[in-house]
Amino acid sequence: MDRLPFSVFERLSHLEKMSDQTLDLLVIGGGITGAGIALDAASRGLSVGLVEKQDFGAGTSSRSTKLIHGGLRYLKQGEIKLVQEVGRERAILYRNAPHIVIPEQMLLPLVEGGTYGKLGTSFGLWLYDVLAGVKREERRIMLSEAETSEAEPLLRTDILKGGGLYIEYRTDDARLTIEVMKTAVQYGAMCVNYTEAAKLLYREGRIVGFEANDLLTQKTFNLTAKKVVNAAGPWADELREKDHSLRGKRLHLTKGVHLVVPYDKFPLQQSVYFDVPDGRMIFAIPRGKCTYFGTTDTNYHGDLEHPRVTREDAAYLIDAVNHMFPSLNLSQDDICSSWAGLRPLIHEDGKSPSELSRKDEIFLSPSGLITIAGGKLTGYRKMAERVVNMVVEQLEQEEQISVNNCCTDRIVLSGGDFVSPESVSSYIEQLAARYSQQFSRQMIVDLVRKFGTNSEKILELSHSYRDTDTAVDPATSLLFAELHYGIHEEMTAGLTDFLIRRTGMLLFDRHRIEEVLPMLADELANKLDWDSEHKSHELQRLLIEYQSAVTFH
Ligand code: FAD
Repeated sequence: MDRLPFSVFERLSHLEKMSDQTLDLLVIGGGITGAGIALDAASRGLSVGLVEKQDFGAGTSSRSTKLIHGGLRYLKQGEIKLVQEVGRERAILYRNAPHIVIPEQMLLPLVEGGTYGKLGTSFGLWLYDVLAGVKREERRIMLSEAETSEAEPLLRTDILKGGGLYIEYRTDDARLTIEVMKTAVQYGAMCVNYTEAAKLLYREGRIVGFEANDLLTQKTFNLTAKKVVNAAGPWADELREKDHSLRGKRLHLTKGVHLVVPYDKFPLQQSVYFDVPDGRMIFAIPRGKCTYFGTTDTNYHGDLEHPRVTREDAAYLIDAVNHMFPSLNLSQDDICSSWAGLRPLIHEDGKSPSELSRKDEIFLSPSGLITIAGGKLTGYRKMAERVVNMVVEQLEQEEQISVNNCCTDRIVLSGGDFVSPESVSSYIEQLAARYSQQFSRQMIVDLVRKFGTNSEKILELSHSYRDTDTAVDPATSLLFAELHYGIHEEMTAGLTDFLIRRTGMLLFDRHRIEEVLPMLADELANKLDWDSEHKSHELQRLLIEYQSAVTFH
């Protein structure tokens, strides 16, 4: 089999190739921001390398609320331009990756003493529709008290005054990051996970690259480029510190937590965005066999790689849900998974976590290091465009080369190759009919919602597992095929990559892990040639993640 450019077996050769030349651009950080920059720059014809010290998306970009927002809450903060921009970006993303950007109705219940009043909500949602360019058929609908109760029978009725229905778009943040990264690689970017930008390298005071440590082979490479971008999210200030340029504006990290319960414990009719007694608002979102809810927003000063859910965080969210949906009586025993993420926001004196702007900012240091911080998943494409415009401007001045304009609004992301967003459902029906002997319709839906038009490759691969081993049942053959695809086409290097970020199984189908883990560990060990020590190390890593998803401290 030919080696594919985003195969885990290509990591070393990418690092070698990167170290053999002076690239146009090196990107530090493989979250959504870094992935977006790599795609933008590579699609304009620049030579690009990207290193990620964990797995792609393992930072904040797999730990969000998983919404492509229209930005309703920014309206309340008067950030009109931001609402307009994210609205436009949402439409572009829906067009280019409709398999993982899914319109969903969101119910906003109006309650006594709540954030939004009836008239204010009607006007606010109308303005939001206009600013965000929402399609006519998706515009807000205002509901009476009775209609709201009917739409969501679990809501408490004693304080209910009515409601508004509007459209939000659901996504899978880690998979979106992978799809953007995969597309960047298709355009020639060299992107490598588990590689840390350790020591920054300078010539005459100007940054020229960094020493990159491959954490899987312990090899070190000197990587150089004309421009270096720091897209390290919550770690951005650590790199600015190394660059001796951490002055003026700084990051302000806040932690956000989500909890997951089985759907039958919280059987919502649709997503709900509701008031919490302390004046904040949180989301509850049904997803497959589960419902998840969050988030919190608290100042954070701990370990950046492993933010944890505390008992206090869990109690806050459970109380919030029980307050608005009293018949549920949720307790900590009902939680089947959880995650915590860090928002890399820009500090503003005197502002509380919830008041801090979600806007992004670019800092240019005296050494030439370009740092991008803040922002949202939803706005990643525009953030990337701004950064690459700056890179291109500098390259044009310094090197007298001319580079194409940004074209990412027209680039279909890997897996998003549909005639139109609406045709995702007919694609699902076609595959479901074609594979009805082996797989249930739901299995096909789940597959397409992860891999889009790449699902066909995975279904083909699943055949080969069935052909070679008749003991493999259809569900396992599909899982093995996803794993195979992950290794060869999504740089999956271990169990946590696969079970958390490529498939989301730890978050939304945790019990299945108990069933499939031994098989998966054997299969990975076999494919990646692990010895028993490596295999137990991988199992240990997974166990730590598993414990942290199910226990609070
Ligand atoms: P990250 O994803 O953290 O990526 C930075 C990467 O850099 C990390 O993977 C890290 O390992 C790597 N790195 C750091 N140092 C180095 C180094 N020296 N060498 C190599 N690699 C390095 N946005 C939305 O649009 N919708 C939402 O619903 C939403 N909900 C959110 C909910 C929560 C709780 C949180 C915390 C955020 C939410 N956001 C949301 C915001 C969004 O998730 C973030 O803005 C976005 O994911 C940040 O991406 P990033 O690439 O900048 O950072």
